[in-house]
Amino acid sequence: MRILLTGGSGFIGSALIRHLIQSGCHLILNVDALSYASSRDSLSQVEDHPCYSFSHTNINDGKKISTHLQQFQPDIIIHLAAESHVDRSIDTPAGFIQTNIMGTFTLLEQCYIYWGSLEPQRKQHFRFHHVSTDEVYGDLGYTGARFTESSPYSPSSPYSASKASSDHLVRAWHRTYGLPVVISNCSNNYGPYQFPEKLVPHMVLNAISGKPLPVYGSGEQVRDWLYVEDHVRALVAVATRGRIGETYNIGGNQERSNLNVIQAICSILEDLQPGKLTGSLRYSDLIKFVDDRPGHDQRYAIDASKIRTELGWHAQESFETGLRKTVLWYLENTSWWERILNGAYRLDRLGKQA
Ligand code: NAD
Repeated sequence: MRILLTGGSGFIGSALIRHLIQSGCHLILNVDALSYASSRDSLSQVEDHPCYSFSHTNINDGKKISTHLQQFQPDIIIHLAAESHVDRSIDTPAGFIQTNIMGTFTLLEQCYIYWGSLEPQRKQHFRFHHVSTDEVYGDLGYTGARFTESSPYSPSSPYSASKASSDHLVRAWHRTYGLPVVISNCSNNYGPYQFPEKLVPHMVLNAISGKPLPVYGSGEQVRDWLYVEDHVRALVAVATRGRIGETYNIGGNQERSNLNVIQAICSILEDLQPGKLTGSLRYSDLIKFVDDRPGHDQRYAIDASKIRTELGWHAQESFETGLRKTVLWYLENTSWWERILNGAYRLDRLGKQA
């Protein structure tokens, strides 16, 4: 198959590309604007592979997107490109509206024209897979039932509101124009190559440098954590076998509070590299409670029974095994995150061009 991915240089997109290349038989075009959140190093294993190509393209550039569609002739689009960090969306929401809403609109317009130009057989098998988040459902409260695909949308942050808007646009292009779409809404991911501003890598890197581990509010906010490689397998299942027009929730049924996550990271570090901090400090002594994030949702949790029943997917990693692998990866891959923290990654951004 010929698969065009947007946002393939980010955390989840790069994991998906590494997985697709390792599993053989697909031609991949990665279309990515290379925002601050992407590092070329995340795809160094595959960048010279004959099945992989890259284009430095913003999804808001309809003309360039159209050219790529006509030249590459994809069978599937997997749309991951987004601004994705909630704190940044609170400080500077404009980029989230531009990429997550307007960019998705531009992509839909161009995909609809391209799809209309295909021969009947290819037209019938074409798919547009929109990758979204459980944050569109809003705050569950500590006792609410887990989100299903029919839970009402109630986003809280500019990030989740922009993703909710993009989900609505994708559904409208299916319902109004017949574009064959599938949507997935996934819980919080963690794993190798995640940008250091996100909770898990931020805490790992602060802890090993002896810096404070800031916990928003009381740290009781609950998220449903999923190892990124489990998400990637779910994305392949939805993109290739999901029913057209359907939504699939993806989650690992691993609910943990933010404080639990940080304490778990500290205890893995005590095990993997004990006694590294000055004095007799333990990693958990670095935990520091700070003011809560505005509009912070208490809990998200996913009911993933539909994808399990229909597509036979289930998470393979528990939170404990996945988190241990992740912490170990950050300990063993210092050059990846050091080049991000010292800014060197931004100087070396363009890979193989399409
Ligand atoms: P990320 O921030 O790591 O990567 C996003 C990628 O999109 C980057 O490579 C960036 O350069 C690219 N991009 C941004 N704006 C662009 C534009 N205008 N044109 C082209 N490319 C652009 O994000 P991620 O964590 O890999 O998330 C990928 C997708 O999965 C997003 O749509 C996100 O909403 C969704 N998602 C993420 C999580 C999670 O926990 N990380 C959970 C559920 C869903």
